[in-house]
Amino acid sequence: MSDFQGKLFVFSAPSGSGKTTIVRHLLQQDKFGLEFSISATSRAPRGTEKDGEDYYFISLKEFKNKIKNDEFLEWEEVYRDNFYGTLKTEVERIWAEKKHVIFDIDVAGGLRIKSKFPEKTLAVFVKPPSIDELKIRLKKRSTESDDKINMRIAKASVELATAPQFDKIIKNYILEDALQEAEDLVGSFLEL
Ligand code: 5GP
Repeated sequence: MSDFQGKLFVFSAPSGSGKTTIVRHLLQQDKFGLEFSISATSRAPRGTEKDGEDYYFISLKEFKNKIKNDEFLEWEEVYRDNFYGTLKTEVERIWAEKKHVIFDIDVAGGLRIKSKFPEKTLAVFVKPPSIDELKIRLKKRSTESDDKINMRIAKASVELATAPQFDKIIKNYILEDALQEAEDLVGSFLEL
């Protein structure tokens, strides 16, 4: 098994586009051998989120220390004082298990991973039907205040413009179709 070539799958999209649903679906497909890259974040846990599963929840101070120590492959202040980043140790951990890494990260972070590992990475942009639909989805999720939702919507418009920089775009209009398309893309990148 020493010929294992670890790959990276980046799924980026505006918050509320459904990329988390797509990533979870792909993780359930054993044939792909994917493992989720758990990001570190300085934001507080939401709903049922667990430390070490959804994120490594760390303090702002700890996060800044890790930046200083060059422990991140990429990091981003996605929203003010809410830092998110991929620890180098996370990718090493997953490849050591002979699994491929799948990321659910923001657009800038996704493109940074792609630029660091251009050959090994498939970068996919998940496109929501419209900004209005995004607003509806975020409100339905009702885990955030109106202010926070508006902040996410404002960022979404900027993010949508980066879609052409990705290897592939999945339109998440009908979830079943988007899931199938995601499976096809991953399967073909892995040459299955
Ligand atoms: P949320 O607060 O909704 O969990 O995430 C907010 C945004 O941060 C999402 O777009 C999410 O994909 C992104 N994000 C999560 N982890 C990372 C990461 O490690 N790096 C970057 N750049 N963005 C991330």
